[in-house]
Amino acid sequence: SQPHSTKIALVTGGSRGIGAAIVRRLAADGAAVAFTYSSSEHKAKAIVAELEAAGGRALAIRADSADAKAVQDAVALTAETFGGLDILVSNAGILILNPLDDYSLEDFDRMFAVNVRAAFVGIQAAARHMKEGGRIITIGSVTADRSGFPTSAVYSMTKGAIASMTRGLARDLGPRGITINNVQPGPTATDMNPNEDDHERLKPLMALGRLGEDREIAGLAAYLASAEAAFVTGASLTIDGGYLA
Ligand code: NDP
Repeated sequence: SQPHSTKIALVTGGSRGIGAAIVRRLAADGAAVAFTYSSSEHKAKAIVAELEAAGGRALAIRADSADAKAVQDAVALTAETFGGLDILVSNAGILILNPLDDYSLEDFDRMFAVNVRAAFVGIQAAARHMKEGGRIITIGSVTADRSGFPTSAVYSMTKGAIASMTRGLARDLGPRGITINNVQPGPTATDMNPNEDDHERLKPLMALGRLGEDREIAGLAAYLASAEAAFVTGASLTIDGGYLA
């Protein structure tokens, strides 16, 4: 396998939050990093400028995950620009919470398109470019194992789908020497979790009494992307400050 410094990575939803932390971490580890975003163009451009100023190679691609063709094109553009693809981090996700009676099918379909279908489409496209040693990481959620609160059924379902898809694809990709693993963060301080009142409500439920930081999640993703993690596949690894404990 190639030395780590030559790895080429694509992170979906890399303009903010956990995805942005993963972009920065993979770049710091020496990878050329492409990432997608849907609306945060200024933030995306600022990240590219930051990584290039540090001597790295970076590429921001506007690609709405709800649009399968846009995701496929982002994979192709990454491989063309950097000359291959070694690591895919399927991170882009949305959270639409609503009580059962009020959950529209439109929102259901959007949740599924962004959180599940786009992950499958991205993996399908990326795997075609990957050689032995390829690494695929999905960002699921601890909600796959514990919803915790009303209104989160559909979100939890999408993350449960990611966990089971990861197990299934480990069987498809194993013979090719490509690993796929699912990182399941617990409550993490990002724009997805912006409300201070919610933080105070969550903290007593965490063994560590605090929310996670995007960098902490990025550290686990970086491990799974590394050569050292070659024997880990099909796993859902929870990183939740003891929310499940
Ligand atoms: P943020 O809302 O902070 O960031 C989401 C990122 O995904 C942004 O870069 C955003 O881009 C991008 N994105 C959103 N929708 C789309 C779309 N349709 N197409 C392309 N990109 C899109 O979320 P987090 O960083 O918190 O979440 C990242 C992942 O981690 C998600 O899968 C989430 O479900 C999961 N997670 C988060 C937890 C938390 O507590 N924060 C806990 C467990 C899991 P743009 O800026 O352009 O909108």
